[in-house]
Amino acid sequence: MAECIFCKIARKEIPNEFLYEDADVIAFADINPLAPVHVLVIPRRHISSVNDFMAEDAVLIGKLILAARAIAREKRIADDGYKLLFRTGEHGGQEVPHVHLHLIGGAPLTENIHSV
Ligand code: 5GP
Ligand code: ZN
Repeated sequence: MAECIFCKIARKEIPNEFLYEDADVIAFADINPLAPVHVLVIPRRHISSVNDFMAEDAVLIGKLILAARAIAREKRIADDGYKLLFRTGEHGGQEVPHVHLHLIGGAPLTENIHSV
């Protein structure tokens, strides 16, 4: 996936500070934050969306959630709470076709399903 923007970020072809990284997962700030804390947690490997996860990806999926939780703790929003969100496909509002877990928090969030 040479042209995928998140693959380029993962390969460090686009400068971006990683808030978390391990062998399988990286995290970085969303370029257009919807809340005081808005971080994207992604697998290094290109997977287009939740629809493309395989059963073998179960551990990777868990790592995405654990990385998001670690960042929430580090940013001291864990106790107040936050949202974890996978937008999926057109109706889900997914714009970047490389699966990413949104960590959104730092303020009370709306119940509106179309926003955070
Ligand atoms: P989606 O709508 O696909 O769930 O979310 C994509 C998110 O990626 C959006 O919140 C958008 O602001 C963010 N985004 C898109 N391009 C870039 C980029 O080049 N760098 C960073 N850091 N975030 C991006
Ligand atoms: Zn990609």
